[in-house]
Amino acid sequence: MKIELIKGDITKIKTDAIVNAANSSLLGGGGVDGAIHRAGGPEILDECKQIRNRQRKCKTGEAVVTTAGNLPAKYVIHTVGPIWNNDEEKCSPQLANCYKNSLKLAESLNVKTISFPNISTGVYRFPKELAAKIAIQEVKSFESDVIEKVIFVCFDDENEEIYKKLLE
Ligand code: ADP
Repeated sequence: MKIELIKGDITKIKTDAIVNAANSSLLGGGGVDGAIHRAGGPEILDECKQIRNRQRKCKTGEAVVTTAGNLPAKYVIHTVGPIWNNDEEKCSPQLANCYKNSLKLAESLNVKTISFPNISTGVYRFPKELAAKIAIQEVKSFESDVIEKVIFVCFDDENEEIYKKLLE
């Protein structure tokens, strides 16, 4: 699996799937979630609502898929990152699950290329360096015959610097 780093807006990226750092309500929010719903259009929220009707909510670390609406991707994989509460032992495996479950779901959809934002490192305040280490570790240890490329899309300078350093 090839790993790339891009600085920019994930809604502009043309991979088979892009991942959304959603919240458990699946009803949209700020940050990358808001950007994806704004750029992708109402179809994404419609499908999120259908999922909610079936399963009430999406738990921390889990992932669900919808259409990508007007976005260049085919799918949006919504995963719910942990809200950082200084409990590293609890939050770290939850964040790892976000990456693992998103990759598993992508694989089941025959996704060859997938982009991740820096899940939980915005409003959810997960320490950026630790989050990046977990993200890279999960992607590197995921063995797949289906997924060919994973792109880490960094939006802020700090995350870009951290990923650059760790991926060297
Ligand atoms: P969370 O609630 O999981 O912390 P946020 O959306 O607040 O989610 O932040 C997650 C990460 O997404 C942050 O690093 C933020 O800089 C980044 N981000 C915000 N907007 C975009 C975007 N359009 N494309 C890619 N990443 C984004």
